[in-house]
Amino acid sequence: MGPLSDSLLKLGLPLLTPIQARQFTRYREELLSWNKHMNLTAITDPAEVESLHFLDSLTVALAMPDPVPPGYSVCDVGTGAGFPGVPLKIAFPQIRLALVESTAKRTAFLSHLVQALDLADVAIHTGRAEELAHQPGLREVFDLATARAVAEARVLLELTLPFSRVGGCAVLMKKGNIAQEVAEAGSAIAVLGGRLEEVRRVPAEALPGDRALVVVEKAWPTPSRYPRRPGIPAKRPL
Ligand code: SAH
Repeated sequence: MGPLSDSLLKLGLPLLTPIQARQFTRYREELLSWNKHMNLTAITDPAEVESLHFLDSLTVALAMPDPVPPGYSVCDVGTGAGFPGVPLKIAFPQIRLALVESTAKRTAFLSHLVQALDLADVAIHTGRAEELAHQPGLREVFDLATARAVAEARVLLELTLPFSRVGGCAVLMKKGNIAQEVAEAGSAIAVLGGRLEEVRRVPAEALPGDRALVVVEKAWPTPSRYPRRPGIPAKRPL
């Protein structure tokens, strides 16, 4: 059993089939190959790609229903080279995935990757979350909206929660001392129609580094003026 499977077991997540294991290998190869020509990741050690990108991404599954129903929809905001969305799609092929990324170079990589891995039901959107979250087919439709390493919680909630349907959620991947970040996000949560559901710690024996998922339930519709224009959420956090 490989280290990735070993850690998945510790997280209580399903083990990988041979097809899924091959998809992760190919993902790593494509990532490191494209990374020579564009800035996709600072992590280039193959074992670290497995733990710090793949496994870390899969921790979001701790906030997903078990089993994950067919057609369960996930929106990954500021996905960069596909994290956490693409690892989730590999591990849970039944989900419908939307990848939101403002940099066209990165979405070119994502289009190539989705083909190379033969993934179905993945939509790639090149643009700012502030604008895409107002589009009828994207606003308030997803079961889960997530993001890793894009902004502080109160900013990130304005960029994620508008994508979630009422009854769905936003799941923020956070590291270190997040108590203060969560406290500062209180008014953003309320204004955007959220309700803090839990701060779920990632077990350190599966992945060290004091990681947690901030799970915010979408309790009411988000007022139509949010998200505000590109750049404003970060400049004037709620
Ligand atoms: N989630 C990935 C990438 C993090 S870097 C990971 O964890 O590895 C942040 C990414 O978000 C960058 O690729 C950047 O282009 C994108 N991004 C930042 N703000 C954005 C916005 N408002 N809308 C869409 N993409 C955004």
